[in-house]
Amino acid sequence: MIPYGKQNLNSADIAAVIEALNSPYLTQGPRVGEFEKDLSTYLGCKHVVAVNSATSALHLACIALGVEAGDLVWTSAISFAASANAARYCGADVDFVDIDYETFNMSVGDLERKLREAEDHGSPLPKVVIPVAMAGQPADMQEIRELSNRYGFKVLEDASHALGATLGGYRVGGGSWSDVTVFSFHPVKMITTGEGGACATNDPEIARRIQLLRSHGITRDPAEMESPNGAAWYYEQQELGFNYRITDFQCALGISQLRRLDSFVESRLLVAETYSQLLDPDVFELPQVLPDRTSSFHLYVVRLKSENPVERNQRFESMRANGILVNLHYIPIYRHPYYSRTGLYSPSNFPEAERYFASALSLPIYPELQRTQIEAVVSALSEPIGHQTIF
Ligand SMILES: *Cc1c(COP(=O)(O)O)cnc(C)c1O
Repeated sequence: MIPYGKQNLNSADIAAVIEALNSPYLTQGPRVGEFEKDLSTYLGCKHVVAVNSATSALHLACIALGVEAGDLVWTSAISFAASANAARYCGADVDFVDIDYETFNMSVGDLERKLREAEDHGSPLPKVVIPVAMAGQPADMQEIRELSNRYGFKVLEDASHALGATLGGYRVGGGSWSDVTVFSFHPVKMITTGEGGACATNDPEIARRIQLLRSHGITRDPAEMESPNGAAWYYEQQELGFNYRITDFQCALGISQLRRLDSFVESRLLVAETYSQLLDPDVFELPQVLPDRTSSFHLYVVRLKSENPVERNQRFESMRANGILVNLHYIPIYRHPYYSRTGLYSPSNFPEAERYFASALSLPIYPELQRTQIEAVVSALSEPIGHQTIF
């Protein structure tokens, strides 16, 4: 069996977790702050707040960016559902922007068109736009930032796939072009804490708000209190927060994994290059990384040039039957019943997302994937499908 992705834990990672388990703190101890500091140093941003998942991070970021019931949030049509759900948790309405054919990222052209049309028709403009660094390749953040300045929305970058990627020579999450950037530490992502996520920002007020909301909206800092009474036991709940805390032993793993991130990215890049050398470019559209950026290759997505969904499904089934756990990242979010039953979204408004949906296939990629396994994937994928009796 070859999974599509998996974590890579070594003895140093495991020793770090055991050390944390033997310490006085299982949660809310020193390792959370240490992990946040290491991440902010790595990313080159001012503030990082670690939480128990990227989904929680997206939710808190939406609140901190002012998303409320009745607001509008736009995200990319091709992403994991959590990119859109975060806005729904706040009671906001969601709409989608079509993707770019080459990068699978939010199309700046379509974003600009939608903004212009909304303005022309006097329709509501989005309060927040959530571009996604699909497969590990950063979205067109400079262009999206320019549009945000023109149309007044905030930018929340879902970089769940892209820890370690760069744009214009800067690390994703450095904060040059987004108000908040979110990362995931789920086991299939770039580094893992089991479950976990983080918000990165350069805005101290946004960071403070996310920190407060992560733990019930409660503060114990007298400097922040509305009516401090001087007692040592006193704390205040200032707004309705959540328990989205990450534990100390998870952060111990995160600190250790972060030290290995660059080697993970390097190994993934090597896997991607090997696929790109071995796969037939007449049959498959191979992933392209634009010249001003680097991808962390969370995913290696190929597209069948035939754009024939029946053929794609046959290849999918035959790969799975061979123990190669290919995947489809992702079903367009508007096609999930939770979204489609609203009747708000028509697939015909998202022609590139539909093309992608008909032809995409994620091949296994993770740091320890061996060349012989890559060759096995390529050879299984290259079998003529007429010879298989799948359907
Ligand atoms: C994985 C993922 C998430 C959610 O991450 P969790 O840490 O599992 O909550 C959100 N957005 C995208 C694009 C993802 O791939």
